[in-house]
Amino acid sequence: MKRVTVFGSTGSIGQNTLDLIARAPHDYDVVALTGGRNIARLAADARRLGAQVAVTAHDDLLEDLRAALAGSGVAAAAGQAALIEAAARPADWTMSAIVGAAGLAPGMEALKHGGTLALANKESLVTAGPLLMATAARHGARILPVDSEHSAIFQALAGEDIAAVERIIITASGGAFRDWPLERLAGATLAEASSHPNWDMGQRITIDSASMFNKALEVIETREFFGVYPDQIEVILHPESLVHALVGFRDGALMAHVGASDMRHAIGYALHWPERRDLPVARLDLAAIGTLNFRAPDPARYPALRLARDVMQRGGLSGAVFNAAKERALDAFIAGRIGFLDMAGVVEDVLTRMSSESGLIDAEITLDTVAHVDHLARIRADEAMQAKAG
Ligand code: NDP
Repeated sequence: MKRVTVFGSTGSIGQNTLDLIARAPHDYDVVALTGGRNIARLAADARRLGAQVAVTAHDDLLEDLRAALAGSGVAAAAGQAALIEAAARPADWTMSAIVGAAGLAPGMEALKHGGTLALANKESLVTAGPLLMATAARHGARILPVDSEHSAIFQALAGEDIAAVERIIITASGGAFRDWPLERLAGATLAEASSHPNWDMGQRITIDSASMFNKALEVIETREFFGVYPDQIEVILHPESLVHALVGFRDGALMAHVGASDMRHAIGYALHWPERRDLPVARLDLAAIGTLNFRAPDPARYPALRLARDVMQRGGLSGAVFNAAKERALDAFIAGRIGFLDMAGVVEDVLTRMSSESGLIDAEITLDTVAHVDHLARIRADEAMQAKAG
């Protein structure tokens, strides 16, 4: 029996993970499930899968969770300390699928107890990559990528020497607005940005796909996870989302990972690694697909990609600044306070400002310094948005 914990179990990645676990219930002992506001789903899954504990991130929802779990034998807990406590419970495999910077601390705690961390929460690597990798190494824990591109790279690298890698190409669907004329983008609505042409994902990552902030995070994630140089990482638009990434080697060979747009592939690969097992994902009919398209991304349409390069060049805590400013700008877009194209401007403003504050982004990367710059970046983002509005 594999002991498994799922952080963010009520979300898109979390539900796909539980789908795989529920198909083979005798193979898994579910330790902890965690969610945010969706108490009904959290409690129903915890009951169904016989979890030891269910945790909501929100203290004020503890009584609701207790009521929903009454008589089930599943313990209920709430708040940040309870999330960390859940991460400390012995588990062989932990899924990190909380959205945003909030995913970092539970993932870090899980790494301290060994085992495998399946990492969907790309923000962890963007904000604190060196810390995360060092913590895993120190405690003999393993991080396996779950982002489809990074799982694809990981698979293409199996048995290869990273020193033989010339370049890594990650594909991008281009999101909801890839075919919109540039001048229409400023007026893009929340509903329009929240619908993805190929993938069914949580709302925040779907909007980040439309703006390419998601791809920007993934470029930084690639650098942190695989340790390649920034100029070895390329992004290419691939509207079909069937080739997830390609690895180019020094002999000119290009290894591509091709598969359906279904996150259960990458999740299942991380769940069963190093084995491959049957997964309920569609098999591609290449003759029916016929054509795969690739084109270079237009820099004017996707400023987030340029900002990712800027972050990699600055290094240190600039990833934490970038992510926090992006999260704040995204909150404001979702709340209808800024337009779609304003998000990149806010992030650039905050990055430029905080990079010039002496000693700030060059400080040692710890959970405390990440939390500090994250907090500051959110304040600076609010200031930037107020200045623009006023
Ligand atoms: P969702 O928004 O669907 O789910 C997020 C999960 O995190 C939910 O369980 C939510 O709880 C919980 N949550 C939200 N805020 C907090 C918080 N402050 N503290 C603790 N828990 C919280 O996101 P996705 O599943 O789409 O994405 C999860 C992560 O995986 C992200 O980092 C994303 O970038 C990454 N990812 C996602 C992919 C996808 O296909 N969806 C693909 C590749 C990577 P509740 O809903 O109950 O409030």
